[in-house]
Amino acid sequence: MKVRVLGCYGGNIPGHGMTSLLVNDALAVDAGWVSGALSLKEQVKVKDVLISHSHLDHTCSLPFLIDNNFSAPGFSLRIHAIPEVIASMKNHLFNNHTWPDFTCLPNDLTPVLKLVEITPEHTFVVNDIRIRAVPVSHIVPTTGFILEDARGAVAFSSDTGPTERFWEVVNSVKKLKAVITETSFPNELQDLANVSGHLTPATLERELQKLDNDVPVYLYGAKPRHLGRIRKQVGALKRKRLKILSQGETYRF
Ligand SMILES: [Zn+2]
Repeated sequence: MKVRVLGCYGGNIPGHGMTSLLVNDALAVDAGWVSGALSLKEQVKVKDVLISHSHLDHTCSLPFLIDNNFSAPGFSLRIHAIPEVIASMKNHLFNNHTWPDFTCLPNDLTPVLKLVEITPEHTFVVNDIRIRAVPVSHIVPTTGFILEDARGAVAFSSDTGPTERFWEVVNSVKKLKAVITETSFPNELQDLANVSGHLTPATLERELQKLDNDVPVYLYGAKPRHLGRIRKQVGALKRKRLKILSQGETYRF
């Protein structure tokens, strides 16, 4: 599985895009930075997007991904998410106020956008990748995703504070190759992390004790203002297989 990091930050300053991973060129996992990172030629190839939750740093490039490619021959996009997230996108994003409702454009019969409701912990398949959404503990309804192909599996937690079910499911996955999880704030801002449903290096360390497999763990979601301190504190955990994701890099699992 080829995973290209389009953006991996919990905020946006030049050179730092928001959360979005591109799997095998055609499937995006979250959409904080798809149109910011991909050329038009590359954007047209994206046919499916998994959306973990409604927050803008995971969704804000969707309107432009669709708008940029609306008239491109054959372009269409499916967004897969749990019903709460789909409802939020219908009500607050593609609502004909914030942005056009592309689920009925250019017409109801052949819309350019399809919103597909998924059920937590039920496997569905996109481009030969088996996918399961697993609920995590954030301040809005949120799921992580387990992605599996014949070679192995990658688990993406999305935004979460301390959580349980995600790690139980991750521990049951055969051929787990990597976990991607978040660390948004430094330890000094633990209170803010707690009320906003995020991790610090301190709570990350406790979360990693729930992981049975000794696989590489990659971090995303750092708020750009706190990146330096988060890097230092993650380094101080002295975990050899713990790394911060690098924007623009392609990982193969
Ligand atoms: Zn969030």
